Amino acid sequence: MTAHEQGAPSADARFLEDFRTMSAFGATPSGGVDRQAATEPDVAQRRWLEELLRERGLRVVYDRVGNQFGLLERVPGAPYVVVGSHMDSQPTAGRYDGAYGVLAAAHAVFRIAEQDAAGASEPVYNLAVVNWFNEEGSRFTPSMMGSAVYTGVLPLETALASRDSAGVTVAEALAPTGFLGDGDGPEAAFCAEIHVEQGRVLEESSTTIGLVSATWAARKYAITVHGEQAHSGATVMADRRDALVGASMLVVAARELADRFPGVLHTAVGRLDVYPNSPVVVPSRAELLLDLRSHDEEVLAEADRLFQEQVARVEAAASVTVEQTLSHAWDVNPYQPEGVALARASAEGLGLSSGEVMTVAGHDSTNMKERVPTVMLFVPSVEGVSHNEGEYTEDSDLVAGLAVLTDVVRRLGAGELAASGTHTPGRA
Ligand SMILES: [Zn+2]
Repeated sequence: MTAHEQGAPSADARFLEDFRTMSAFGATPSGGVDRQAATEPDVAQRRWLEELLRERGLRVVYDRVGNQFGLLERVPGAPYVVVGSHMDSQPTAGRYDGAYGVLAAAHAVFRIAEQDAAGASEPVYNLAVVNWFNEEGSRFTPSMMGSAVYTGVLPLETALASRDSAGVTVAEALAPTGFLGDGDGPEAAFCAEIHVEQGRVLEESSTTIGLVSATWAARKYAITVHGEQAHSGATVMADRRDALVGASMLVVAARELADRFPGVLHTAVGRLDVYPNSPVVVPSRAELLLDLRSHDEEVLAEADRLFQEQVARVEAAASVTVEQTLSHAWDVNPYQPEGVALARASAEGLGLSSGEVMTVAGHDSTNMKERVPTVMLFVPSVEGVSHNEGEYTEDSDLVAGLAVLTDVVRRLGAGELAASGTHTPGRA
């Protein structure tokens, strides 16, 4: 048994204790969390993380969109392995989504710092823990905001001007917190992220570590259904142009589409805003956000075509007009295979089962892998429950994931994977 293995139990216990502490920020009575971006619990948790990172010798900096970095400088002037996830949450969410990945990143870097101090490593790259700002996009759109600005996909000004439903901008929400830095964050050479799977593939195959090989393809539409406001009692039925009836038909049409491609296509309307949303008024306008996702690009294209047929049918049937904007679209998109191979070697070296999986959900690493070689790991989600207060992952899987992440970051930091250039923040 090595010294590292002897030290592991107490280090794991310390990690689990920190995880319990962090889960108290924004805790809900049903065992979940509510930590939307830049709300009081998110701010309090970030201050707690800053303290934790500082205590362990990391230098904490913020970039201009509020991404939080804990820097471990090992090689002056060298670029960084950026490792982390997000700590913001949906309004009623689970404790693990994102938060696990940030804390695991912090503890992975703490462990490597101990190896450095013991002379047990040969550092080539610096290490940065990251807590990306506003990954969930529930308070401010778009989602994955912090990593999108960092990678240059989203202009900084657009992000800072994004407003929540109360009209508060990102800039206004962040200004009083002290989390708006004046720099662009560290230069990245590699990225790593660990996250709960949010699906059942690992659990059903009794696999501990998911090696994420690609993202599902997705198309997201912002749809506005236009009708005409009328008295909901007095107006004769034949005269009505009810926007909510049209929107409801689209919601059902999206669900029926998924039923035609079982297991291959996921669809949902996650948001519906009705105007004027008043008891005695036929709605004149309904706005909805539609997601279509598949791991098969041909199925996705066919689903999109069929959905457009339904839009035409709904316009005629409900006497409404439908306006659509394709807000996001991406194809099946692979992670670098050499990163998958490196992560597999780490899992095998630790005696943990692993297998390749795809991610249906978007993650900050989805942005990062477009710029630098990126490793994405999953640990099992019990029954696949996600974006729900009942989200759960076994402690044994949390610490197994931390062990693999630590080894992956150690290897990346030692230059085991060839860098394909570096990424300067904010530049596409
Ligand atoms: Zn997440």
